[in-house]
Amino acid sequence: MVDNLIVINPRGFCAGVEMAIKALSWMLKIFPTPIYCYHEIVHNDWIVEVFKKNGVIFVESPQEIPTDSVAMLSAHGTSPEIKEKFLKKSSIMIDSVCPLVTKVHHEAKTLSEKGTHIIYVGHNGHDEAVGAMGVAPKSMTLIESPDDLNNFIPENPDKVALLAQTTLAISEWDNILETSKDLYPNLIVPRKSDLCYATTNRQEAAKEIAPEVDTILVVGSSTSSNTKALVKTINNLDTEVYMLNNVDEINKIKDLGKRVAITAGASAPDHIVQEIINKIDPKKIEYFINTEEEEYFPLPIELRKIYKNTEVLLHQIFPKSKINKSKRTFANDREWTATDALVAL
Ligand code: SF4
Repeated sequence: MVDNLIVINPRGFCAGVEMAIKALSWMLKIFPTPIYCYHEIVHNDWIVEVFKKNGVIFVESPQEIPTDSVAMLSAHGTSPEIKEKFLKKSSIMIDSVCPLVTKVHHEAKTLSEKGTHIIYVGHNGHDEAVGAMGVAPKSMTLIESPDDLNNFIPENPDKVALLAQTTLAISEWDNILETSKDLYPNLIVPRKSDLCYATTNRQEAAKEIAPEVDTILVVGSSTSSNTKALVKTINNLDTEVYMLNNVDEINKIKDLGKRVAITAGASAPDHIVQEIINKIDPKKIEYFINTEEEEYFPLPIELRKIYKNTEVLLHQIFPKSKINKSKRTFANDREWTATDALVAL
């Protein structure tokens, strides 16, 4: 029996995931199905299944979509070449890339245009890394560990920059940053780290609570990079850690210990956290708030334009109780959460 369960904050949906889920949910209300989505909209099995059941077909290339179909690009970012292909093949295309990923794409483009070679720290094959590397493929080298730096020989060691996937473990990034600085004294790094606020906040909160508990449960899917980074961060400490994709997976844990904490990756829905808490049924529940998050990302511009023209119809489709009557506009989508949008499907 667990004596004490600490629920960690912040956890779960980040602003980018909120935006992408709302965008795809609302597309399902406006356009006929199927809607084709390039890559999983966010890396969570439960959310992907919900969208599949409601008429979304996830694809891995623009060749898979029929001509003139409706398409969405995922939150992880898409290379300019692939985006162009989707644009040509679809009648409507909405890009739900997270603005923090766009920031990295912008950095890669600007640096490569200045003749700088970019070392991109990321996970080979991950959707975000594939999209970012596609921005300037001839000027970018992907590395996953400090050892990979040994195989990188730049043309001009004074013109080297370091960029990163937004969802790395802080320790992964710090190691490579320090080694790169030693190798390249004139290394260019972004003024603000590419690791996003949601990734670092969830890791910092878990690090704070780790010494207080026997076990930390991390809710999220194995496809989610920031969830895996959270697990990796806790693994570096002396605390047992388990990644749970759903409530049933708790049965695989033989002994949770007396003091347990729970958190969730940035794409994990909170109802799974609540189901696990109910299943554990601890004697006492406490809440630990390490930092408050107020980030908000507006819906993709193309979608906002469509809403503007179809607002009257949309107000008939979505549950009115969720909208403050004085602010009944979809441009004001702060009134809605991703969970509201999923429930309304
Ligand atoms: Fe954006 Fe970070 Fe969320 Fe990824 S984890 S969608 S980069 S806020």
